[in-house]
Amino acid sequence: MNRSISCRTKSAFTHLVLSALLISLCANPALAQAAKKPAPASPKAQAPPQTQSQPVDKEYTESIIKNTTDKMFLTEFVDHLPASDKVPTPAKVLGYPVGTPNKLTYTKDQYRYYRELEKATPRVKVFTAPEKSELGREQLLVVVGDEAAVANLAKYKEITAKLGDPRRINDEEAKKLIGEGKAIYWASGSIHSPETGSPEMLMEMAYRLAVEETPFIQAIRKNVIVLITPTLEVDGRDMMVDLYNWRKANEGKRAPSLLYWGKYVAHDNNRDSMAMALALTRNQMSTFLEYHPTILHDLHESVPFLYTSTGTGPYNAWLDPIVINEWQALAYHEIEEMTKRGVPGVWTHGFYDGWAPNYMFYVANGHNSIGRFYETFGNGGADTQDRVVGQQSNRDWFRPNPPLPRVKWSLRNNVNMQQSAILLAMNYVSANKDRFLNNFYLKSKRSVAKAKTEGPAAWVLPAGDPRPNEAADLVNLLKMQGCEVHKADKEIETKDGKFPAGSYVVRMDQPYSRMADMLLDTQYYNVNDPRPYDDTGWTLGPLRNVKTVRAKDVAILNAPMTLINGMAKVTGSVAGSGKAGYIINHNAESAIAQLRFRLKDVKINAAEDTFKVGERSFNAGSFIIKAEGNPADLDARLKKEATELGVAAHAVDKLPEVAQHALSVPRIALVHTWTNTQNEGWYRIEFDRLGIPYSYISDHVIRDTANLREKYDVIIWGPVGGSAQSIVRGVPKRSDNEAPIPWQKSDITPNMGQSPDTTADMRGGMGVTGVANLQRFIESGGLFVTIGGNASIPIDFGITEGVSIQAARQLQARGSIFNATFADRKSPIAYGYDEKLAVYFNQAPLIQVGGVGGFGGGGFNPFGQQQGRPSGRGGLNDPDIPQGRPPFIAPPAQPSPDGIPEEFRTQLAGQLPSAEMRPRIVLRFATDEKNLLVSGMLAGGSELAGKPAVIDVPVGKGHVVMFANNPMWRHQTHGSFSLLFNAALNYDHLSVGRAATPRRGQPQAGQNGDDQ
Ligand SMILES: [Zn+2]
Repeated sequence: MNRSISCRTKSAFTHLVLSALLISLCANPALAQAAKKPAPASPKAQAPPQTQSQPVDKEYTESIIKNTTDKMFLTEFVDHLPASDKVPTPAKVLGYPVGTPNKLTYTKDQYRYYRELEKATPRVKVFTAPEKSELGREQLLVVVGDEAAVANLAKYKEITAKLGDPRRINDEEAKKLIGEGKAIYWASGSIHSPETGSPEMLMEMAYRLAVEETPFIQAIRKNVIVLITPTLEVDGRDMMVDLYNWRKANEGKRAPSLLYWGKYVAHDNNRDSMAMALALTRNQMSTFLEYHPTILHDLHESVPFLYTSTGTGPYNAWLDPIVINEWQALAYHEIEEMTKRGVPGVWTHGFYDGWAPNYMFYVANGHNSIGRFYETFGNGGADTQDRVVGQQSNRDWFRPNPPLPRVKWSLRNNVNMQQSAILLAMNYVSANKDRFLNNFYLKSKRSVAKAKTEGPAAWVLPAGDPRPNEAADLVNLLKMQGCEVHKADKEIETKDGKFPAGSYVVRMDQPYSRMADMLLDTQYYNVNDPRPYDDTGWTLGPLRNVKTVRAKDVAILNAPMTLINGMAKVTGSVAGSGKAGYIINHNAESAIAQLRFRLKDVKINAAEDTFKVGERSFNAGSFIIKAEGNPADLDARLKKEATELGVAAHAVDKLPEVAQHALSVPRIALVHTWTNTQNEGWYRIEFDRLGIPYSYISDHVIRDTANLREKYDVIIWGPVGGSAQSIVRGVPKRSDNEAPIPWQKSDITPNMGQSPDTTADMRGGMGVTGVANLQRFIESGGLFVTIGGNASIPIDFGITEGVSIQAARQLQARGSIFNATFADRKSPIAYGYDEKLAVYFNQAPLIQVGGVGGFGGGGFNPFGQQQGRPSGRGGLNDPDIPQGRPPFIAPPAQPSPDGIPEEFRTQLAGQLPSAEMRPRIVLRFATDEKNLLVSGMLAGGSELAGKPAVIDVPVGKGHVVMFANNPMWRHQTHGSFSLLFNAALNYDHLSVGRAATPRRGQPQAGQNGDDQ
């Protein structure tokens, strides 16, 4: 059967190629025949008898054939387009068939097409997603099904909702609902903007699903409701079409890269499923919670010719094994059916792992449905190109029918591959509709049973957390994920401890227990597993500096508690009636920085030490606001802001006598390059969300502004990859004769003007002129903040002394969470924090401070010089005992605040900068290798143990603060935000609290002398 199908396909192709321009195909018998033949599919696939033959759209079909580079990239599903008197084809509305070279479709035209389709057929309905994109575009959801299904959507949504919450129904009712219900298959297009094919393909697929009368398509309509997200990253799509059109109009010229996709991030829009910082993720989540789709299928393009997702493992350990099997079943169905049709290069397994839940399709995987994706071969536009396939053309156990090593590839090929395979998947789901719906019910049921089967019973966020806003925010994230969160009515006593009344309880006997569990639990990634595809650790409690308790004792499930309706919210207040002023504890929440900026005209001091008022303790960094000398309406304004921000202020009659300094309202600049804006976008998203003002400037502004100090107090160089030299060079400017590379609005690029920044010429980085300007900025009192690897800018260009970056030899620490300890709690950067903090760190940089090392050589690392322990008696954690003498156990090495070991201090005295000008380690990775890892992957930890995470390097009158950890990563690291805000707010007092430096009353170098 299969061979004959393959032959038929090819003969149809040959016939068409020969006859395309010669004879009318309007009622081409070969095609009509093709459309009429029973569809091949898995043995179980249903093929209802067909009642009528269907003519094909001749011109459109010719276009398909002409633009497919080889018949092997066609199947009988896509080698023609059925004609319709009533329903418009994409060509009728757009003016060109899908897959036409040089044609990419803007979102507004995609939408125009879907709305025409909706008008023409009762099988299509168009909805708008709840939120607009960050740049104001609509996101659409298109529903395609048979007339009755589309007319009765509410009924089918109700069925899947009930199956998704087995607490509401019993097995008998479930069985009935499964019989009545329909599977919902959700295809989601172009989350990644340079991956251009899926928005085109989906329009044609919608038409085909609505119009075609083959038994194969009829079977899909019968049992499946298809949801289509035409384009997910709507902003990036329109900029990508701009860019493509610009390239076509400027052939031979160097073109810009797609610098901005969405307003904030680029490729990372597909790493937002955990934290939901982007409108597109929230839209997908709310659509999921409305429809409970059986499958969410995300369409990507990066791998030849069609990679269908399963993954190498390690697979996410919190998923029900049933869904892992479903991934495999669907993938192997597609591979088998495509292979039978003679299509090369459809494969699975390799490429990605299946571990982290940050991908968008975890909207489904994390909620008892199936999340999956394709990677097809895209050309990054709509050109037909000769392509060379690398390693992925090798035959391997998981790729017995590999892609060809060389191929002429077209947009149409890409469309054919995507559409054929996804239709096969839809048909398979139709044939197995009851099985998939039953699995959904079963997975939901097993999620509810989790509390008592595998545990834990619940996660608890105990009341009284020093960071109540962050705790509430984490609760709200869980609620956005569809999880239920309760509040303890009174104290709960369990074997896991006592939890006070008001504690948040996330029960594991609810449908989305697995999502909550995977977000809150810790991760262990074995370094012997395949190289991770992305982050290996993501535990949100530690990252947000919020205490979470894994409660195993099922007794907690019987404790009295109340479901939280609506959002969790902390209401702040101004307590007391004192007239002297106000005190606000610094608890290392972002709300503290927000308050400072909201009251920017108010004089606020920061305490330089801990203090007590009555029985109440206040952290270093706490705000002291004197009534005298401040605006008369201070009380009313503080009440308003404190209430909104969830801040507890205290009105007192007597202000504490503690060392303090005036807290600035710094002018902050956030710098981006013209090479990449991906990771700095996560900074903008937080600054915008928190309402913290900043100027967004490019490295060209650094280059062109001789006096940066006049304009800015703090310059943050957002994370960007590459060496210091490549960052400073930027997009290379090779010659003055070469045309500029613009990123701006023009007739041909109308959407680029919406970008957060634009330029007439992207070429040239900040250059050495920029480096010199930066150095002047710092030396005249500015604060320069580097994130991750771009610490190399001030180090390699000699702006800082005493700091170096060490290359890792053994370390494997890919996107993990590590314990860190404040090495200097008197530094303003440490204000509000406890002794320890968990931070996100991804492999580099290993910053080295002090000694001859940092000051020009190899460096000291007094901690963890050796991995493990010497071979000898006992186990890993036992001390080594040389024989024939009493045991000697050395006391643990004491970190010195400037990184210089005591025994070298005297001998280096003449060469070192004065004490107050040496780098100051503020936060350090745990010195004990065994206590370093919180979550994720770690090997060779001795190289990281004890290394600085945050250092403050005085330079002239200013400072460079370097972060080895990334304090603003993917809207997950809320616990680290205050490190950055503290540095900024205290930019002109960073040397406060240094050991062995002149103290208050004596103005110090680098300070304005307004210490009190
Ligand atoms: Zn992609």
